[in-house]
Amino acid sequence: MADDRHRPDAGVTGPELVDARALAGEPDGFQRLWTPHRMAYIGGENKPVDDAAGPGCPFCRIPSLPDDEGLVVARGTRAYVVMNLYPYNPGHVLVCPYRHVADYTDLSVDEVAEVGALTQSAMRVLRAVLAPSGFNLGMNQGDVAGAGIAAHLHQHVVPRWDGDSNFLPVVGRSRALPELLSDTRARLAAAWPTPTGG
Ligand SMILES: [Zn+2]
Repeated sequence: MADDRHRPDAGVTGPELVDARALAGEPDGFQRLWTPHRMAYIGGENKPVDDAAGPGCPFCRIPSLPDDEGLVVARGTRAYVVMNLYPYNPGHVLVCPYRHVADYTDLSVDEVAEVGALTQSAMRVLRAVLAPSGFNLGMNQGDVAGAGIAAHLHQHVVPRWDGDSNFLPVVGRSRALPELLSDTRARLAAAWPTPTGG
């Protein structure tokens, strides 16, 4: 299985993206079926070795990186928005609390509110920039539910277009991603609303 085309970082170029372990997402070797109802990644050679917080967890590590290196789209007080390195579709972002928390019920009221608000902003920005016709929103809770990095919860925001689940992912084992992730990140970040104070 030494086929580099199926490495998680295959097709991702640019010096800021050399170390895929610094970026958000759950590697799957491009072997996913297109099953948006499941929102699951299978496999994953970049998965954390354990459930600990800290540098071994991508979602803990990313906020310490500059936005363009970590593919961070926007930062809130308690949560942030980042490009998924293994997108289902262009513009697939993740909303993550800064705190290393596995279960949705462990989030504070303030964290729940900000994850929700950032999810709303992500939808508005994605509509403005990429004009999707719909979204899948979701959180996988636990390995059994398909969470690739179960120890640090993250909400998927996946833009959908008519016909996006065509034959290509099934037959070609690849997704059509017309933009580099770094380009999409820059467009979304530029369109992100500036805080209005308070
Ligand atoms: Zn973490």
